[in-house]
Amino acid sequence: MKALRRFTVRAHLPDRLAALERLSVNLRWSWDKPTQDLFEAIDPQLWETVGADPVGLLGQVSPARLQQLAADDSFVTRLDDLAADLDDYLTRPLWYQQLGAASGGPDADQHDGVLPHGIAYFSMEFGVVEVLPNYSGGLGILAGDHLKSASDLGLPLIAVGLHYGSGYFRQSLTADGWQHENYPHLDPQGLPLRLLVGADGKAVLIDLALPGGAILYARIWVAQVGRIPLLLLDSDIPDNDHDLRGVTDRLYGGDQEHRMRQEILAGIGGVRAIRAFTALEGLPAPEVFHMNEGHAGFLGAERIREFIEAGLDFDTALTVVRASTVFTTHTPVPAGIDRFPLELVERYFGPEAGAVGSRLLPGVPLDRILAFGAEDDPTKFNMAHMGLRLAQRANGVSLLHGRVSREMFNDLWPGFDAVEVPIGSITNGVHAPTWAAPQWLELGRELLGSEDLTTLREPETWKGLNRVDPGHLWWIRSQLRAELIDDVRARLRRSWLERGAPSVELGWTATAFDPSVLTIGFARRVPTYKRLTLMLRDPERLARLLLDPERPVQLIVAGKSHPADEAGKALIQQIVRFADREDLRHRIAFLPDYDMSMARKLYHGCDVWLNNPLRPLEACGTSGMKSALNGGLNLSIRDGWWDEWFDGDNGWEIPTADGLTDENRRDDLEAAALYDVLEHAVVSRFYDRDEHGIPVRWVEMVRHTLEVLGPKVLASRMVRDYTEKYYLPAARSLRRSVEPGRSSPKFDVPFGAAQELADFRRRVERAWAHVRISDVDSSGLPDTPLLGSELTLTALVHLDGLNADEVAVQALLGRVDAGDTLIDPVTVPMTHVGTADGGRASFTATAPLPVTGSVGYAVRVLPHHRLLAGPTELGLVTFA
Ligand SMILES: *Cc1c(COP(=O)(O)O)cnc(C)c1O
Repeated sequence: MKALRRFTVRAHLPDRLAALERLSVNLRWSWDKPTQDLFEAIDPQLWETVGADPVGLLGQVSPARLQQLAADDSFVTRLDDLAADLDDYLTRPLWYQQLGAASGGPDADQHDGVLPHGIAYFSMEFGVVEVLPNYSGGLGILAGDHLKSASDLGLPLIAVGLHYGSGYFRQSLTADGWQHENYPHLDPQGLPLRLLVGADGKAVLIDLALPGGAILYARIWVAQVGRIPLLLLDSDIPDNDHDLRGVTDRLYGGDQEHRMRQEILAGIGGVRAIRAFTALEGLPAPEVFHMNEGHAGFLGAERIREFIEAGLDFDTALTVVRASTVFTTHTPVPAGIDRFPLELVERYFGPEAGAVGSRLLPGVPLDRILAFGAEDDPTKFNMAHMGLRLAQRANGVSLLHGRVSREMFNDLWPGFDAVEVPIGSITNGVHAPTWAAPQWLELGRELLGSEDLTTLREPETWKGLNRVDPGHLWWIRSQLRAELIDDVRARLRRSWLERGAPSVELGWTATAFDPSVLTIGFARRVPTYKRLTLMLRDPERLARLLLDPERPVQLIVAGKSHPADEAGKALIQQIVRFADREDLRHRIAFLPDYDMSMARKLYHGCDVWLNNPLRPLEACGTSGMKSALNGGLNLSIRDGWWDEWFDGDNGWEIPTADGLTDENRRDDLEAAALYDVLEHAVVSRFYDRDEHGIPVRWVEMVRHTLEVLGPKVLASRMVRDYTEKYYLPAARSLRRSVEPGRSSPKFDVPFGAAQELADFRRRVERAWAHVRISDVDSSGLPDTPLLGSELTLTALVHLDGLNADEVAVQALLGRVDAGDTLIDPVTVPMTHVGTADGGRASFTATAPLPVTGSVGYAVRVLPHHRLLAGPTELGLVTFA
């Protein structure tokens, strides 16, 4: 008989061991080796069985063992020390608190000196630790690393997502190499989560009114990630109708309507969950809202509803919401952007009879919601467009992705060249204590002479590696490779057993792979653009590399295909079949069920990390960063972060055939380039040894990689960048927008500044069609202009009722190409000098000629308001 559900019944913890509870539920243990070691010491064998999971371990350890430990003074002392260390970690002033102290002095501007009281971080997935499988790939892992670094830096951040009944799927393979998906149910009781309960001890529920009178309820689980609470909404409760219980069943499963409900729950429900949580915990309301991808974009609509309920009009509410919202786009792949059929949005946000807005968002008119998601296709609602329209500040996740995003979303800022589209970039990073092998962290502590690794962000810190003997660096690399090979053999055997092979035939797995052979890793999700099978373009050439008698390579491949992506599964099958070849299976393997625990071993042990996406579709990529943090050398297409930080000596680039439209041919060329680099550069360097067997030049590359990439790839660098470039300016904009306005007595009320900006926006949008630059005159240049000669420009502008200080008039001056296009012009602000006939405003500027050669100028007018984040924000511009 099979049980319907399973749950865990725990032994009571003896009093002296009570702190184990706290250490097990705060996920800080996942990046604190001493705490992991403590849990392992409770029962090493059980620790392995439960998959390094403190909550799982406490659920199964025997009461007798607990009694024994409670009587063990040295264990209890160790426990008390670690509990004290956790308390210290959770309370001592960190970077953020120092930032506040440094900038909040008496002379600081009253706005500039104040840090945001709270930041709300929204994502559909969070990969914090493998025991909380709430992620499918890079986006989730990145979110997890963001939270951990925010904790390490002391940011007052609250994260929000969904708790999925069965997370993402577990992957296995059928005998013929087809991906099989399994959705084990996750029992929240067995996870490091606590239920948010009210003063009455009952679960706090948030509710959402759906069409047809239904109500969707959700309870809130809290995962504690160091200092950071992560709220996860869960609809699987008896209060819901049967089909609504399933809203949070799986990550990225189901049809469009299912997805829509999930995103409404994450966005709107997410804001409601934050309100309930901060009220209960006595925390200040977050000031900055950070949307990751458009998925949770409805959060902006909910905040508008809140402000309307508080008495603001729609446009003022939108202005305040925009001021305090940051939108991060994480993909340039169109399939990665959610687009809903318009009728679905109409159904969920359509008005009730006689009322403004839906039951879901009373007071928020449907047409305004629809306008947020408008795109080229009038039948579609685009969630990324909504994100961009609800956020005053936006960014991509690497320099190249920022550039690609400015082009991709250029249509939302018509009239501007892509370079001026207000989407910046912050390059992703990875959380070192999570991803660097203990051996490296230990070396770091030795070099620093301190337990405190916060100075890892200083490039100087990494220079200490110059003092380390090449033999020692090689010893660490070799040790990590050997640990990986052990793990690979065990996984290979398990996979073959699952595929139905009898164990007597699996003796070969015990000696498959070789700890002394050059080891290459390739592991990631399997969307087409990542080109899992590029390495198989010329199978025999790959086989020769694998089987070279003197200088072989071995390849470990892993990754999940989205369950609905049959083409992706076919790619996996292709690799599996190749790796099944009896002559090759000791040198190449596809390992099923790529997750954080497998990933960690791969990043630790692989000598080379291979990545061959179709440029420029990889927004950033982070697995290569994790490999680099362990002295792995990247061999990659110059896409995402690698385009930015490859320096010629820290790995290899695979040359690309960018712009070639014949994809087949492009794959051929790029695969050939990959084999070439492997054969001519990578392999020879790895096997070129000195008299002690050390590949000195390889080790120098390892050292150089750690030194130059170490300080850059850190998530702490990323989170500091977000704080300084996005969170602080957004909080500043928010605080300015809620103040009284300045332009007229009518706005001399709270939120007057936002009203003033909303009013300004309405007026310029109306007037803009008539704003015209009628005359431009130049003067001042000598007959033969020289570099630096001064040019004076005067322009007359018809303002159609706008004031002269409500526009910015700019001269653009620079080199022109044969088609008269200005190349990287300098921008010179023109000053208002008076009114000419016909009420036209006169503007002028004098500037030195900035370059030699063919030089040209242009004059343009843009809206100007002190509360705009930049002159291009409203997407309005008129050229002479
Ligand atoms: C880092 C990581 C990813 C992201 O890898 P990409 O380089 O962005 O493809 C995916 N899955 C896991 C488990 C990871 O640790």
